Amino acid sequence: MNFEDLDRSYLWHPFTPMREWLAEPPLVIERAEGNELIDTEGRRYLDGVSSLWVNVHGHAHPAINAAISQQLTKVAHTTLLGLASTPSIALAEKLVALAPPGLTRVFFSDSGSTAVEVALKLSFQFQQLRGLSRRVKFLALHNAYHGDTIGSVSLGGIDTFHRVFQPLLFHTLHVNPTIADLQQAFANHGHELAALVLEPLVQGAAGMLLSPPGFLREARSLCDKHGVLLIADEVATGFGRTGTMFACQQEGVTPDLLALAKGLSGGYLPVAATMVTDEIFNQFLGLPEERVTFFHGHSFGGNALGCAAALASLDLFEREQTLANLPPKIAALRARLNQKISPLPHVFEIRQKGLMVGIELRRTPSHPYSAQEAIGARVCRIVRRHGAILRPLGSVVVLMPPLSITPAQIDRLVDATAAAIADATVEPLPAPAVTPSQPPQPRTTRPPVRGIVLVGTDTGVGKTTVGVGLLALARARGLSPVPFKPVETGAAPDPDDALRLRSAAGQDALPLAIVCPYSFSPPVAPALAAEQASTRLTLDAIMSAARRAAACGDFLLVESAGGVLSPYSEELTTADLAAALGLPLVLVARNALGAISHAALAIAELRRRNLPLLGVLFVDTTEASTPDRAHNPRFVHSLTGVRVLGTLPFLPVPSPEGLAAALRRSVDVDAILTALR
Ligand SMILES: *Cc1c(COP(=O)(O)O)cnc(C)c1O
Repeated sequence: MNFEDLDRSYLWHPFTPMREWLAEPPLVIERAEGNELIDTEGRRYLDGVSSLWVNVHGHAHPAINAAISQQLTKVAHTTLLGLASTPSIALAEKLVALAPPGLTRVFFSDSGSTAVEVALKLSFQFQQLRGLSRRVKFLALHNAYHGDTIGSVSLGGIDTFHRVFQPLLFHTLHVNPTIADLQQAFANHGHELAALVLEPLVQGAAGMLLSPPGFLREARSLCDKHGVLLIADEVATGFGRTGTMFACQQEGVTPDLLALAKGLSGGYLPVAATMVTDEIFNQFLGLPEERVTFFHGHSFGGNALGCAAALASLDLFEREQTLANLPPKIAALRARLNQKISPLPHVFEIRQKGLMVGIELRRTPSHPYSAQEAIGARVCRIVRRHGAILRPLGSVVVLMPPLSITPAQIDRLVDATAAAIADATVEPLPAPAVTPSQPPQPRTTRPPVRGIVLVGTDTGVGKTTVGVGLLALARARGLSPVPFKPVETGAAPDPDDALRLRSAAGQDALPLAIVCPYSFSPPVAPALAAEQASTRLTLDAIMSAARRAAACGDFLLVESAGGVLSPYSEELTTADLAAALGLPLVLVARNALGAISHAALAIAELRRRNLPLLGVLFVDTTEASTPDRAHNPRFVHSLTGVRVLGTLPFLPVPSPEGLAAALRRSVDVDAILTALR
């Protein structure tokens, strides 16, 4: 049989542009062993995305195969409508034992979408039964994905997938996944919400976006405070993907409803479950005439073969110590990604939680690839030549291997991905059909940039610490500050300084690329890091990134790289950048032996270039005091005549608020902030 032709004649593939599909011979899988898929030609491929996020222990696992065969000798399926069945009872008991405490009832269905639909309808009816008939709205996160049925699409927030169905959907409120925005949404809408729905820790289909730490816990407490139910959609994150059995466990949260599917059966058969608390279940315990029945069910809910597979999979978690074996795999994956993927020029960001990874590709940090370029799809086509199967999300390359992946296979998978990304981003891309989509642009009239530039006497002098404190201070004074760190090196894989600055500014929703357009993992000068990544940092590119950042708030805090003459390229230094920005400077100096000469030399150079210097800010970068500390500022002032703004004391726990308070106490912050007016 010619499967390739027959496929093209008869099949319609999900989430697939079929015109392109028909133009190329499909890859046809015939069988699989462990973590490898085998095509009709006998070629083997690592299953890099667990057959769309479902497979857990590998394919054709003897234990799961045996459990299914054995169940098959008894019965394949009987209904749960008015009838009970042995494997579904055993599985429900097992799930209650494993789930976060308090989830005590299991409603079975057959896909992630139906598990979410059930949660939606249950929570809606629950509020009605409680007599809270005005609690009819749902709150979901921007870029949410909860499935493809109309109810779950109504919760969704991914424009490409969901826009066309807009007229069919019920109205859902969407909020940015930041703690501040969530609090605001509850303040405005808490009284009319039936439930908050979210994917805990990782928004999968959004492109593997990681929620800020504490977000889930805050969601739980806001729901409690406002009488709103919390629905956790762990269809993707459940069953070990994030490193724990369920993602909710990482923040010690029990949702009111938990949707499970994908990995529940080990990825073998379509089984899904919606788990709920006693409180919800008990509300449905009235007499039939009280209209308390939940009229919902799917033909194959609680399917016996599926439940048998799920029981076998959960049994393997115990017998093979699947979760206990994860930490070294997660660490190995992280290390290999850092080593092989981070240095590639068009890798913008690597996001990892457990064995869930999103590698975001951009043409340059501030220029995403356009949808027409289909860069992710290109990488995934090429990676097959390197022996792996992947499936992208737009320009995000996803890795989500089975939990059974071995260390050697992790290396193979990452190396194949690195090779494919390198190929895909080097080969000339087809000309985009329309103008490439642009990142957020400043308002049409160029806003006047207000702000300051932090320059250092050297690297490691405490610029970021000062920046964090100043941002928190500016925020406390009602400004909307935006940090801008044009380049961060030593980012492994995250530009940690930029993240700290962004968070201190309360700008977690701002794309990292706005705050830090260039990040490189080698801990070397920007010019060298860029050279090694085959990139060139130009004044024009940095200036346009600075203008874009400035447009996102009313106070730009620029943290320049290293010292005054640290190079961005062979002909561009921090001092050149400061001159182009035209903003007042604060010179940050480490308060330690050597500070006097370092500061005086930096000041001499800034003077030579006529740069507007507000003053010198000393930082005690260590706890241990030295006899010179108290005197360094005085000598710098007398030698240079430049104003000393103060000394930021060493703080063992440098929280933004703590730093802001310390700056307020020890530094002439008004001299800095009034420069903004
Ligand atoms: C995949 C997914 C769904 C939908 O599951 P299906 O089984 O494909 O219907 C729902 N929610 C999340 C978070 C998912 O990743």
